[in-house]
Amino acid sequence: MPTFEDSLGQVVAAIAALPDDAESFAALSDAELTGIPGGLAAARHQLEAREARVAGEIARRSSYALGYAGLAQKGGFRTAEKLVQHLTGSTSREAAKLVRTGVIIHEAEIITEAERTGEVSPELTKPWLAPVGRAVATGTLSIEAGEAIRVGLGVPTEDISVDLLADAAARLVELATGAADVADPRSTDADTPAPLNADQLLDRARSLRDELDEAGIADRERARQNARSFKRYRRGDGMTVYTLLADPENAAYLDSIYDSLSSPRRGGPRMVDLTAKARDEEVESDPRTLEQLTFDGVMAILRIGADTDAKTAARSVLGTRRPAVRVLVTKDTLDTGSGLGRIEGQPAPVSIETVERHLCDSGMMPVTFDRDGQCVDLGREQRLYSALQRIGLAARDGGCRWPGCAQPASWTEAHHINQWARDNGRTDLADGILLCRHHHMLLHNNHWEITRTGGTYRLHPPATVDPTRTPRLMPHKSAALEDLQRQQLERDRRDRDRQERASRERELIPGTG
Ligand SMILES: [Zn+2]
Ligand SMILES: [Zn+2]
Repeated sequence: MPTFEDSLGQVVAAIAALPDDAESFAALSDAELTGIPGGLAAARHQLEAREARVAGEIARRSSYALGYAGLAQKGGFRTAEKLVQHLTGSTSREAAKLVRTGVIIHEAEIITEAERTGEVSPELTKPWLAPVGRAVATGTLSIEAGEAIRVGLGVPTEDISVDLLADAAARLVELATGAADVADPRSTDADTPAPLNADQLLDRARSLRDELDEAGIADRERARQNARSFKRYRRGDGMTVYTLLADPENAAYLDSIYDSLSSPRRGGPRMVDLTAKARDEEVESDPRTLEQLTFDGVMAILRIGADTDAKTAARSVLGTRRPAVRVLVTKDTLDTGSGLGRIEGQPAPVSIETVERHLCDSGMMPVTFDRDGQCVDLGREQRLYSALQRIGLAARDGGCRWPGCAQPASWTEAHHINQWARDNGRTDLADGILLCRHHHMLLHNNHWEITRTGGTYRLHPPATVDPTRTPRLMPHKSAALEDLQRQQLERDRRDRDRQERASRERELIPGTG
């Protein structure tokens, strides 16, 4: 029987027999050329599968239980990954991936064997990835695609069992290998869907996970929001590096600014009106790099923002494309108040609370679809405070009306005290109240409520904050409204005095009244 080395020698010889000179590829037809990468990748997957198996066996012989008697440890390596890295000359990330995949393949075989004999399988590290292990072992799934499934699916929790995740993993393997026999329910045509590549697989795995874990969406969304940051450090060469980490909602806004600044150069949508067209052409002939151009645009916007309300100046930088964040949600979700929403252009779903907060501030537009997924009707934008109404709200509230908050009106969003979907709210001025972004988010996410009696607004904390739910007054912060109210009081007092004087005078003149 030939040794592994003998067989490998034959493989290497076979690879060496493949053409590797530029002329042989140049001589191929387009069809012949494009037929090659897929075949090469399939061959690579076969090789990778062996690499992973060997790494898995090294890991098995280097387990912690063996202590210093382990294979890696005997050689002076702390872990199997370190030994594999040493043997292959790869990065630690590559070595870790090989070992991890090797372990997954090994565990898949233990599970298969346990199912065959009916025995209970021992403690395994990632049993839900058995479908991935089986597909990688046969070379039908690449290690990279397996990693995408592993990362996207995450780990089991109290709510999401190993079995649920294993089913999802099996489904994803089918989608990746093109073995899916039923058409994807999200796809509107009945044709067999094309196999997903590793990037698409990661997205699909993430959204499958989100579907399994809908209750976790709000938590993950909050974690992303909390991870937002803006950092600065000085470099030795006199430059300063700013790192901005944005959550999906803020990223959608930044993206729309970034796209406006850079799209003429990147071959983005061309503008139809003449001034914008001239601007696009100007950008295209600009000698600056895309990075410099975008940087200058961002600086210009910051200066405008820090300066005055120079709307026309902003337009000259951004063109006619206004930065906007669009949220998409189904009517059922909106009506029932449970489920998830989507931010256009962002893969992570958002909670219903975030959807409702956007509805408050930006209004909504119904888009109706038929069963073929064809857009049949666009409704008018509803429930959006007009620019005029916003001026009224700013004059009345004078800033964020949350008790103790001092944010100015220009930093606020308009909240509807009746939630549109839940309470059939209207766009009356009396139903609107200004809140800064922080307090608007707090209100929706933690379920505070605002009620109104005449001109008095009251804030009701959730039971988790105050078990008695005692309402708190929300006084306005408008100095101008205060002036007006004082003048009204004075006028009322003068009127009262005049009336009293008049009635006294009537009393002095007998025969009248
Ligand atoms: Zn709101
Ligand atoms: Zn506030």
